[in-house]
Amino acid sequence: MEPVKKILRQIKPYGATLVAVTKHHTPEEILPLHEMGIRDFGENRVQELIVKKDSLPDDIRWHMIGHLQGKKVKKIAPFIHMIQSLDRVSLWEEIDKQAKRAHRVIPALLEVKVAREATKSGFNPDELIQLLHENTHQLYPNVNIRGVMGMASFTSDKDRIREEFTQLHRIFKQLQYTFFSDTQFDILSMGMSGDYPIALECGTNMVRIGSRLFP
Ligand SMILES: *Cc1c(COP(=O)(O)O)cnc(C)c1O
Repeated sequence: MEPVKKILRQIKPYGATLVAVTKHHTPEEILPLHEMGIRDFGENRVQELIVKKDSLPDDIRWHMIGHLQGKKVKKIAPFIHMIQSLDRVSLWEEIDKQAKRAHRVIPALLEVKVAREATKSGFNPDELIQLLHENTHQLYPNVNIRGVMGMASFTSDKDRIREEFTQLHRIFKQLQYTFFSDTQFDILSMGMSGDYPIALECGTNMVRIGSRLFP
């Protein structure tokens, strides 16, 4: 568990939350993290998330971090702590609908695409700002938008990663003061195993780390 302790020590001065990304790992491998006091866990597939939720302690806060199909929202709506991968309006609408059916308000992050790679999902920043100017966020009262999630390009070019995280931070701040100044919009989720030290310098307050936890 040394790598985990090291990461916790590194993120502490920044006040960032660790979301332990547990995809591809078994409940037996995950349990020691829970025993160390970690309570925020992330998965990118609904089926895997549900299986693990059922075999791990109830006090875990489950974060959905991967591409989410509309038809699968209802399976996680009753319990999911946060949906970080809200990347399109149709999904926003579906989360709102299923949250209402489950008699709850579901916290979510707007996934914003800044990486130039074609494979990354998320709202284009300009389109998102346009949607918010049209008050899209007020159409879905059962979704509580808490902030922004994003990813940098998968590259060894540190300057480029820094540039993309800086851009995400700027968008987060802009949305915060333009559209969400009177709500609790305070989470910037960025930084993974390969780039979280840069993300910390660029203002993240939630890192999503997987492979680095399971050497
Ligand atoms: C897998 C995954 C992570 C964690 O990636 P690692 O490189 O294993 O730390 C973070 N965010 C998302 C959206 C992921 O799918």
